[in-house]
Amino acid sequence: MSFKDLSLSREVLAGIEFLGYETPTPIQREAIPQVLSGKDLIAQAQTGTGKTAAFGIPLVERINPSIKGVQALILVPTRELALQVSEELRKLGKVKKLFVLTVYGGKPLQKHIDFLKKGLNSIVVGTPGRVKDLLGRGYLKLHKVRYLVLDEADRMLEMGFIEDIEEIISATPKDRQTLLFSATFNRVVTNLAEKFLKEDYGIIKIKPEDPTLESITQKVYQTSEKGLWEKLIRLLQAAPDSKTIIFTHTKREAESLSVGLREQGFKVEALHGDYPQKKRETILRKFREGVFYILVATDVASRGLDIRDVELVINYRLPKDSDSYIHRIGRTGRAGRKGTAISIMTDSERRYLSTILKRVKNRVEIYR
Ligand code: AMP
Repeated sequence: MSFKDLSLSREVLAGIEFLGYETPTPIQREAIPQVLSGKDLIAQAQTGTGKTAAFGIPLVERINPSIKGVQALILVPTRELALQVSEELRKLGKVKKLFVLTVYGGKPLQKHIDFLKKGLNSIVVGTPGRVKDLLGRGYLKLHKVRYLVLDEADRMLEMGFIEDIEEIISATPKDRQTLLFSATFNRVVTNLAEKFLKEDYGIIKIKPEDPTLESITQKVYQTSEKGLWEKLIRLLQAAPDSKTIIFTHTKREAESLSVGLREQGFKVEALHGDYPQKKRETILRKFREGVFYILVATDVASRGLDIRDVELVINYRLPKDSDSYIHRIGRTGRAGRKGTAISIMTDSERRYLSTILKRVKNRVEIYR
């Protein structure tokens, strides 16, 4: 199946070509026709499955650039994701000349207000806090919204955004189309769906054995507590200049590892939730551009991180569960490229290994 089989306009097909996508991913194959048919939808899918374009393509198709005002609102948990989603939508909507405004906390409010006053924003992508703020002050008007997307809904709820989200949704017209994307489903997510989606909503589940994992070679190395650091150094030396993300459990560990590695001569930066947003953006931009090539990150900081050419992911110690494992290793092997994921496991962590790998269908080599 190709994108041409999905009844898309020439303009949108050009946007897809501009992004370099050749064939739709499973979630895109399922979601695009349903969204185009006007159905509400809940979709269970992780980052890395192509979920952004799964809602982005049909939205850009449906939005009319000659209508002033916000026609689509996309709520996302973090600034990083807001920026990524916006960039993809901008490329998709380039030929149609759609204007995408990204709003998130930390940026001067006035800038967002100035853009909103111009009234050219077909699509607004934002974090719930800032969207609510702009709505409350009367600058953001949502009465023309026809499409509402809740992206990474589980994560937004975990972060305590439920009240903001409900308030925002209540400000949009009832006959809008609502799409809810979530990596996991629990009662809170389902309740949200039941409350705000039309009764006949469609459900899409993309299984964890999504094709993107196929392109990742997975290895586990077992070592003693004492041997951890040395193991890490040897792994890095064996992959010189490879764009690498090292995952740690804590911010402290991320800091101390990056300091230690820098002393060893590696070009490295840490990334974690304590850094102000500006600093995080700068670090990510430099990593993307290759100014340095090793990023030491915590799970939280890496949520939704989409850097296409990451070649190696190292779990400095095993992640806490299989969701986290899949999320972490999915930072590599993106957009059709090959990647390697290496987990270092200390002797005492051995008993967690099977739990962590339980959702992984492909082969994992274990070295002792
Ligand atoms: P997402 O799940 O939206 O975070 O997308 C994961 C990655 O896959 C991103 O780097 C996208 O640019 C890329 N991607 C999305 N759809 C396709 C496609 N149909 N073909 C190739 N790459 C894609």
